[in-house]
Amino acid sequence: MANTSMDVISSLCKRRGFIYHSSEIYGGINGFWDYGPFGCEMKRNIKNAWWEFTVRTREDVVGLDATIIMHPSIWKASGHLSTFSDPMCTCRSCKKLMRADQVADIFTDGECGKSLAEVVKDGVDAAKVAGWCKGKAKGIAKTLAAVADADKLTAAFNAMKADPAKYADLYALYTLLAAPETEGYRACPYCGGELTEPRPFNLMFKTVVGPVDDPDNVAYLRPETAQAIFAEFTNILNSSRVSVPFGIAQMGKSFRNEVTPRNYTFRSREFEQMELEFFIKPDEAVELVCGHVVTMKDNPDLSTPAKDWGWEVWHKYWVEQRKAWIHRCGLPAASFTEYWQKPDELAHYARACVDIEYQFPFGLQELEGIAARSDYDLTQHQIHSGQSMEVFDADVKAAAAALDDAAKAAFTEKVVADWTARGKDPEKAKKFLASLFEGRYIPHVIEPSAGVDRMMLALLCNAYEEQKLTDNKGKDDSRVVMHFSPVVAPVKVGVFPIVKNKPDVYEKAREIYKDLRKRVSAFWDESGQIGRRYRRQDEIGTPWCITVDFQTLEDGTFTVRDRDTMQQTRMTLPEFKAMMEEALLM
Ligand code: ATP
Repeated sequence: MANTSMDVISSLCKRRGFIYHSSEIYGGINGFWDYGPFGCEMKRNIKNAWWEFTVRTREDVVGLDATIIMHPSIWKASGHLSTFSDPMCTCRSCKKLMRADQVADIFTDGECGKSLAEVVKDGVDAAKVAGWCKGKAKGIAKTLAAVADADKLTAAFNAMKADPAKYADLYALYTLLAAPETEGYRACPYCGGELTEPRPFNLMFKTVVGPVDDPDNVAYLRPETAQAIFAEFTNILNSSRVSVPFGIAQMGKSFRNEVTPRNYTFRSREFEQMELEFFIKPDEAVELVCGHVVTMKDNPDLSTPAKDWGWEVWHKYWVEQRKAWIHRCGLPAASFTEYWQKPDELAHYARACVDIEYQFPFGLQELEGIAARSDYDLTQHQIHSGQSMEVFDADVKAAAAALDDAAKAAFTEKVVADWTARGKDPEKAKKFLASLFEGRYIPHVIEPSAGVDRMMLALLCNAYEEQKLTDNKGKDDSRVVMHFSPVVAPVKVGVFPIVKNKPDVYEKAREIYKDLRKRVSAFWDESGQIGRRYRRQDEIGTPWCITVDFQTLEDGTFTVRDRDTMQQTRMTLPEFKAMMEEALLM
């Protein structure tokens, strides 16, 4: 559940073999996480569900599995070498590095921030804050000027009294206590020391290819999987039976040297992405072929793609597809929202971008993004590689050929006016149209880009519940249960013999277990009371537990206990399999 603390989730994940801190025996390494036996099963299920939904069940998407290290020119063309950076600052006192835009969040998350927040929860009262400086803060914030020096405390006190509203923001108040007499001071969230001005820090991990450690041999671990799709675009176009509109999907590891990895696996330095580049005709091509372009104002039916959809409809279509997938994996529709980036937040080439945000215990944060990126990426690779990224579209050529000179001129005038209104070069519009009339254009792209680790974290947070129960003798009882959807649950079924010292029952249970294991991950447990075995499966989110007993030997039925309702039903193996298959359908 969303209000469960991250500490509770991370401790369950460690205890039950979902997630461990990487290299823990050597003290761990910040921003890197290992997925244990149940964690890697669950992660695989998420990726399989994505592949199934995005590639296998569609006729218009193909897959790619490209390398992590690619030609460094790819990152020059994509802009990652020059612009893929975060603003970073350093504390002049404790030397810690942090992302400049996360300073206030880091402070609020820490012990000092939480303690100060408690003091000012009903508003800034100068006397109460001074009391905190003289008392509790001596233990947790002793380097703050107002804590270490009585004169500085007086200065801070006077400033708070004069204008308490100015310090309603917790980080502003902390900054005042760190440096009461210095305007514009930016306080280190860890020690109160002064932070340097932010400077850009490139997030790509560098490496060297080959034995010679020379600048010419520098390469990068990919910071996203998407660029390989653009780099392989023409190969895929020439070697597969695809035509626009179509998509190329890829999933795999990405690496970002995040300045401050935080919030458990949410911001890691090594993580996995699931990305789709869905290539569409430019709206001008749609207009040529169909005589019109459908936009969201036309209130289109988003369930079935149509030839006359413009980029805006395709974008919304993919937002809906992604929401459907997230929901199918088990997040309730009410737990995530769409955030539509405002025009001033959009990258210069993007026409729209939606973040799907989930209410994590540490706040509403991006789960994944769906961007309409125009023809920017393929154009960049065309410029930098010198290779054409245009496609030939016979329908577009035929439609253009059918226009008479006057119609062509009117079309040209309209497109040039539209490009000019969007701040684009009219000469480029004319060049684009010259190619378009020959049936050639660079496709535009819609990019749904999701993180496996973030999805898994959201599913873990959503699934967790501590339930108070009453047992059948009326005694208080409790259980921890992970309400995973069967699609992502790491174990689909637990199989138990009711007793282990009756060979017939035992062998029958083994037979059923081995049969089920051919299709799904099943867990064998023969030790302890059945109730205990149920609890162990509840904690890892196993949807069903099968208990094989004496009756199984007579009529082939066994009890199936449902994790969420705790109800038990007798079923035969074929009945159980049919029910399970139905629940596992994507
Ligand atoms: P943020 O703003 O949170 O840094 P972003 O906008 O840079 O994310 P994208 O570049 O759009 O993220 O990457 C697409 C997806 O990849 C994200 O929505 C997220 O699910 C995942 N992702 C990105 N960075 C990380 C990371 N450091 N750790 C885990 N997942 C990540």
